[in-house]
Amino acid sequence: MQRRTKIVATLGPSTDDPKVLDDMIQAGVDVVRVNFSHGTHEEHMRRAEQVRNRARAHGRQVGVFADLQGPKIRIDKFKDGKIHLVEGERFVLDASLDPDAGTRERVGIAYKQLPQDVDRGDTLLLDDGAVVLWVEEVKGMEIDCRVVVGGELSNNKGINRQGGGLSAQAITDKDRADIKFAAEMQADYVAVSFPRSADDIHEARELLRQAGGHGGIVAKIERAEAMDALEDIIAATDVVMIARGDLGVEIGDAELPAVQKRIIKVARTMDRVVITATQMMQSMIENPIPTRAEVFDVANAVIDGTDAVMLSAETATGKHVAKVIEAMDRICRGAERQRIDMGFERRSRVQFKRIDEAIAKAAMYTANHLGVKAIAALTESGATPLWMSRISSGIPIYALTRHVETRRKVTLYRGVYPVSFDVTTTDHPQVNREVIDELVRRGAVRDGDLVIITKGDLAGVLGGTNAMKIIRVGEHVLNVE
Ligand code: PGA
Ligand code: MN
Repeated sequence: MQRRTKIVATLGPSTDDPKVLDDMIQAGVDVVRVNFSHGTHEEHMRRAEQVRNRARAHGRQVGVFADLQGPKIRIDKFKDGKIHLVEGERFVLDASLDPDAGTRERVGIAYKQLPQDVDRGDTLLLDDGAVVLWVEEVKGMEIDCRVVVGGELSNNKGINRQGGGLSAQAITDKDRADIKFAAEMQADYVAVSFPRSADDIHEARELLRQAGGHGGIVAKIERAEAMDALEDIIAATDVVMIARGDLGVEIGDAELPAVQKRIIKVARTMDRVVITATQMMQSMIENPIPTRAEVFDVANAVIDGTDAVMLSAETATGKHVAKVIEAMDRICRGAERQRIDMGFERRSRVQFKRIDEAIAKAAMYTANHLGVKAIAALTESGATPLWMSRISSGIPIYALTRHVETRRKVTLYRGVYPVSFDVTTTDHPQVNREVIDELVRRGAVRDGDLVIITKGDLAGVLGGTNAMKIIRVGEHVLNVE
């Protein structure tokens, strides 16, 4: 059985060794993330090209996902690199302080707007909540705080306000330049960090299209405000990421499990793709095996219905890059072995809007009730296999397309596998034969198996899927239409 849930791995210093990259591809990575919060354009381009070259050598398709940095809501630097804060002491966040002049008493802030955004009584969480400050008073450019949870605080750590409410724009000037660059590197996905509304997503898509980029947009749900606008943001985007790191800081970690389930459910119901991210295998940054809690976390995300699970520092800077992907692969397969009823697919009252959507969903209904071995969707944009993969099923969906962009895009869709396939004839029996031959060649089906093929009358037409054909392998040669 092939794994259905997809694995996204972040590139970084640990993955630069070509041998490591080969191991990652062999272990089954589906999509790589280049993180624009670190590194240079040259570095990102080199990494993306290296991945595509190695994937080609392995006969695999690996998607590339560019993650924008977003607003830098951070403190500046300390004279000594770091300080130690003690509970009960005073500490000042000072927007007028020199960026390198931080001391035990005060530190500068990169986000100059912060004093306008906070009030007495607010709780500020630094370094993903490792240090907690309570705002006593705001005086001009200075925020006087009392340390609630102390600890080490080092240069450039992030700041979150509990409950959200920081006004920073999602798309910064750096992001605009990076979107142009993402188009240049032909990123298959571009992720918007800290979006607050659907407008942020529309803006990113427009900028990407203006730059000639074809990629899909990922909305990272990591602000309290994004939860209030969840349906609108999901409607505007192609993919949602449950960015559990920042989101957990803003809404509280105890809210995360319920929120994860809700986001997955809404995304799938609205025909969108969903990635579950952050700290899934955190202990494997150092250790060669995951903790039991991590095993359960990955498995539970699979059971919740996520399309993909993501690795961040585990692969970017971790010590066991191949092992962590192998472990994730094993856990996903284990979770998928039980029949997963995602339970929110009673869509009997849903009206289909399009003919291709109707075919895609009818094909899944038929496949699940007829004991079909494989589904082959002839597709231009990947829309048909996306719809198919919103319906829970254990049956593999092959996305057959001549477009490399589409093959890379579907790397993120649960249960969908890209296949290079060019329709060269309008003769339907001939096309059917070629499709079946391709599936047989891949070992996906053999004589006697049932296969569903979906396609349109004319190859090369977007949204043209209007037919479903059920074929028994071995008999298709005799098929006369
Ligand atoms: P990041 O986003 O890794 O870019 O911070 C993910 C998260 O916040 O969980
Ligand atoms: Mn984040």
